[in-house]
Amino acid sequence: MGSSEKITMVPGVGPKLGTEFARLGISTLHDMILFAPRGYDDRREERTLRMTSQEDATISCRITVLSHSEFPSRRGRTLKVTAIDEDGTRLQLLCFNRPFLKSQLTIGSSWYIVATVERYKGMYSAASFELKKTREEAGIGRILPVYPLSGELTEKMMRRASSFALTMLSPLPDELPSQLYDRLGLMHHDRAYRAIHYPESLEEASEAKRTLSFTELLLLEIKALRDKSPRQRARSLPSRREKALISSLPFSLTPDQESCLQQIREDLDSPAPMSRLLQGDVGSGKTLVAWLSALHVIDSGGQVAFMAPTELLARQHAEGAAELLAPQGVRIAFLTGSVRGEGRRLLLRSLKEGTTDLVIGTHALFSEDVEFHALRYAIIDEQHRFGVQQREALRGKGMDPDVLSMSATPIPRTLALTLFADLDVSTIHTMPSGRIPITTYLVKEDSREKMFSAISVEFRRGHQAYFVYPRIGDDGESDLRDVTTMYDNLKAVFPGVPSALIHSRLDEDEKMRILRDFRSGRISYLVATSVVEVGIDIPNATCMVIEHADRFGLAALHQLRGRVGRSTLPSYCFLVYGRSLSEDAKARLRVMRDTNDGFRIAEKDLEIRGPGEIAGDRQSGFLRLRFASITESPELVELARTEAEAIITEDRGLLKAENAVLRKSLQD
Ligand code: ADP
Ligand code: MG
Repeated sequence: MGSSEKITMVPGVGPKLGTEFARLGISTLHDMILFAPRGYDDRREERTLRMTSQEDATISCRITVLSHSEFPSRRGRTLKVTAIDEDGTRLQLLCFNRPFLKSQLTIGSSWYIVATVERYKGMYSAASFELKKTREEAGIGRILPVYPLSGELTEKMMRRASSFALTMLSPLPDELPSQLYDRLGLMHHDRAYRAIHYPESLEEASEAKRTLSFTELLLLEIKALRDKSPRQRARSLPSRREKALISSLPFSLTPDQESCLQQIREDLDSPAPMSRLLQGDVGSGKTLVAWLSALHVIDSGGQVAFMAPTELLARQHAEGAAELLAPQGVRIAFLTGSVRGEGRRLLLRSLKEGTTDLVIGTHALFSEDVEFHALRYAIIDEQHRFGVQQREALRGKGMDPDVLSMSATPIPRTLALTLFADLDVSTIHTMPSGRIPITTYLVKEDSREKMFSAISVEFRRGHQAYFVYPRIGDDGESDLRDVTTMYDNLKAVFPGVPSALIHSRLDEDEKMRILRDFRSGRISYLVATSVVEVGIDIPNATCMVIEHADRFGLAALHQLRGRVGRSTLPSYCFLVYGRSLSEDAKARLRVMRDTNDGFRIAEKDLEIRGPGEIAGDRQSGFLRLRFASITESPELVELARTEAEAIITEDRGLLKAENAVLRKSLQD
């Protein structure tokens, strides 16, 4: 039994249908077996006309032909056949342009019919139906698979192909070590494949699905765990300047910051290159952990690159680093696309000669002309791509530094275990003490008055606010017009309160100047397009107003809200929404109102959008699950992870006889 028999072996499948199968990813009989039905057509019970309802208008029963009539229709003649089922209910079969059926459906003949009927003025009728001579042919008494289709493929053809494949390839071998079947209550694979296509009961189908999903997830986990290089854990200690910086802080590190820092140190001190994600809610103190770990590397003579997603953020980080690290004697440089000429030349030379310890910038850090003396460590801030591309870029330059990605959008655990299973993850769960949760209000567009008066009170207390407007069109012009209109309106609402408009068209120096004025309190509120970037840290800002909040995704809303609540002051977020909200938008706004917890929000986001959307870039090719759904059965993901860890710990090479099946499955 091989796995290369072509799908065109199925009787009735020629080259033309073959391409339709191929479009569904089915080239061989084996592919057909792996092709999951999207549901089932349960024909176990005979369903007569009397049993139909609005929810389920399908019938599958025996009928007898009573009479014929014919009438002209646009393209030929239509035959109307009146029949009666065994309960005595009448049904009209409309055979458009098929008057020839008359000779088959002779008066008095009996048929098994499968159809969806319509009811009009007490009369049942059906325009499309299957008629068979026997119960078996009609599939009555069975549960039939319903497959996704393509082009001219019909369910009938798909069913023929799947039964043919099951017959040809049976018995299908086990794919898991034998100990797992009993212990985890799984079906043997021959039965599982049969049951996923032609189950005896819906319970059997779901059991089969559990087995096949588990198998798929287990292989995924094993593969990811094998790809990760095993690490000899070093007993790493903080370096001299790390200790100095920690003791100079006006606060102590949170326990989570401590433990994340320790995990990173150990990776940095071990020979295998680090690929780690540091995740923690907005404001949880990731950046500080990053600076401390940078000191760890600098103290041992290495260089560090810190990359931010925008120039504005890079500058803010450079200022932060100057404040914290320069007093420790760290030599810092700032490099973005806008650093040019002589300044750039000198900077590049110092990087190459190793007289710069830490360079902070945008993706320009990894451009062609940048060479390092000894780049040991790259930190990537607020990137949702988790450093994959940057790592590739660096490898291309012959460097393979340790990479730390930082994200305030946590990966839901199920995704971390599947899609990102090859990445190590450190998590800061708890916020520095003293933070007060942000209160979030949902505000209808035409009742903003109360919101405005609440914000006035905050201004009188000397606190500050952001007003954010989304990008609405692709055309930046009209977005700018909208945000400018809002800026003017707000001036009328808050007369005499100093404000500024900030958007992507301003040049970087201008943006920086505005932010500096905002930080110093000279400006009370900022009106911004959604470029009010992630990561901006202005503790005295206590109000975040997001206009058209329904147009933002959960991750973005959470990021934006995270611009406030960065001190011990009570903070407020106002999500302003318009009239016609989609169900998803409503769900998102409710989640925002009900929780401040980034992890809960990430889980909800996964539920609402599904894994494909969230994973973005990574989705392609890496995770194409046939049977498993990580949103439907997260517990199966956990189970697969646990079992995979046990297997890999005991037999990393999968060399034991009982694991030979796994080795084979992985090769396939
Ligand atoms: P993140 O990068 O996770 O969004 P930041 O590193 O910007 O968070 O930290 C937010 C603020 O919290 C900063 O002003 C930082 O100085 C402060 N901070 C960091 N760690 C602590 C701590 N352990 N205790 C109190 N404040 C802290
Ligand atoms: Mg940050």
